[in-house]
Amino acid sequence: GATFMCLAPEHPLVETLSRGTDQETAVNQFVDKVSRQERSAEGIEKYEKEGVFTGTYCINPATGEKIPVYTANFVLMGYGTGAIMSVPSGDQRDFDFARKYGLEIRVVVQPEGEILDGATMTEAYTGRGIMTNSGQFNGMDSKEAIEKMADWLEASGIGKRAVSFRLRDWGISRQRYWGTPIPVIHCASCGVVPVPETDLPITLPEDANLLAKGQSPLPTLDYFARTTCPACGREDAKRDTDTMDTFVESSWYYLRYCSPRYDKGMFDPKAVEYWMPVDQYIGGVEHAVLHLLYSRYFLRVLNTLGLVPFKEPFTRLLTQGMVCKETMTCPEHGYLFPEQGEKQDGNLVCTMCGKDVDVGRVIKMSKSKKNVVNPNELLEKYGADVTRLFCLFAAPPERDLEWSEDGVEGSNRFVNRVWRLALTCMETIQGVDAYKGPADSLKGDQAKELYIKANQTIQKVTADIETNFHFNTAIAAVMELVNAMYTIELEKADDELKSVIWFCLENVLLLLSPIIPHFCEELFAHMGNKGSILEQPWPEFRKDSMQTDDVLVVVQVNGKLRAKFPMSADSGEDDIKAATLGDSRIVKYIEGKEIRKIIVIRKKQTLVNIVV
Ligand SMILES: [Zn+2]
Ligand SMILES: [Zn+2]
Repeated sequence: GATFMCLAPEHPLVETLSRGTDQETAVNQFVDKVSRQERSAEGIEKYEKEGVFTGTYCINPATGEKIPVYTANFVLMGYGTGAIMSVPSGDQRDFDFARKYGLEIRVVVQPEGEILDGATMTEAYTGRGIMTNSGQFNGMDSKEAIEKMADWLEASGIGKRAVSFRLRDWGISRQRYWGTPIPVIHCASCGVVPVPETDLPITLPEDANLLAKGQSPLPTLDYFARTTCPACGREDAKRDTDTMDTFVESSWYYLRYCSPRYDKGMFDPKAVEYWMPVDQYIGGVEHAVLHLLYSRYFLRVLNTLGLVPFKEPFTRLLTQGMVCKETMTCPEHGYLFPEQGEKQDGNLVCTMCGKDVDVGRVIKMSKSKKNVVNPNELLEKYGADVTRLFCLFAAPPERDLEWSEDGVEGSNRFVNRVWRLALTCMETIQGVDAYKGPADSLKGDQAKELYIKANQTIQKVTADIETNFHFNTAIAAVMELVNAMYTIELEKADDELKSVIWFCLENVLLLLSPIIPHFCEELFAHMGNKGSILEQPWPEFRKDSMQTDDVLVVVQVNGKLRAKFPMSADSGEDDIKAATLGDSRIVKYIEGKEIRKIIVIRKKQTLVNIVV
């Protein structure tokens, strides 16, 4: 499929190949023109793809055919070797170039169920297919053919397998104090000499004047900068006073954290083997392209050197969303803080000039846009727990969170609701032991239902937090359990039900303790427990108490809901009909009337429709 070659205009062969040919002048003019263009991967996208024939041909080693050599502005010297074979049927840039200069487009991969023709195709085909125009490889699947072709090229001695990386040099030296000193000494006789390993690490002088004109004070500190050359002993050698880019250290700090006081090397290999790799990394998405990539690269190097036994530093990554809020602008005063707008006759106006305030889009909180909330005021008014609860409840952590005063207020109401429930429980049932047995041993329906609900809640909260930190749905599940607890009339509860309620209360606090820790700690102590709730094991649910055997029967008479009651899941249709017709709430609607139809529909619930 290669029908021509392209050289970068900077390639030394361009001049050599065109010299003395008819194309020499055209090539020189072209090279001159391109030299004024921006020559970077991003830069070349700005210019139309163009090129000129160098006046020379080369031999395609696979076919023995003569193909023309061009120089083109979309080929970069710094990428690969600066010389590419062009396969216009399989690469869009090559395709555009071939069309522009009337070069042959030869199809080598035919997509299944289609016949492409180089003369008429309108764009390059980059997908998989069947090999054609490829000699001995004709008829093969294109993906399998890649391996076979590589084998053949190697066996024929005209090429070998290679992996290409796009790696660029990284200037890591910075002219500032805060950083790791570069352990290098400059000597007039020896040049650049590394600091001997026994003298590492070089530490920063702690008495440097950091206010000196905004520059790094290190070059001015003679006692730091002046040193002896470790190679020749010259006493006028100079220590490098640049420090390393912070990205260098952030690329491997996680290894050092495993043994921060270790002084025999970068890290204690035993500690690293024990702690690493990191189980869970939490960071903003801005880390994804730089810091995380560098970290992986550093670790791969350390692995290759045999210093760490694993290849990836982080097992799981969570990139959290941002906290957002709407902006407010006054025509006179520009961006306003939330407290600078106030409601007047239904309009939001500026507190300084009274003009109407324009409420803008919900965007990331930033000081310059003033769409921020003052944490101190929130802590003052609601406390840290309510603020935490709102943040965790408002959105899953990977999504942006829209700040809302109403939402904070709602969280406050929930916390108070739990507080009142707990106090009521303590007044009426304190001293009861929490029920811990299987649901089946419970006699009362209410006790059984509530106990199962509590076990389901433990399972859901545990899974929501452990699988993806979805505290929002975990909190919602606890809210449901609290609602269920509120439906119980405590004064009328028997001992069995009381012990189930106590179980529920203990678990509500345990499940909420990572979310509103101070609040839960306080109630935990009130309940008469010793020690901290944070030292308690995470609750476990009973697998044998996860679902009721009962199904809810919902009864409608002439389309109106008249009764609901639980029945054993294995009840037959006749039993259900009998129970329905015997229910006192139903009897009053059907007494003395002709029952024209009674239909039982069994799904998750059982629906009984009676037509009279
Ligand atoms: Zn020297
Ligand atoms: Zn104003």
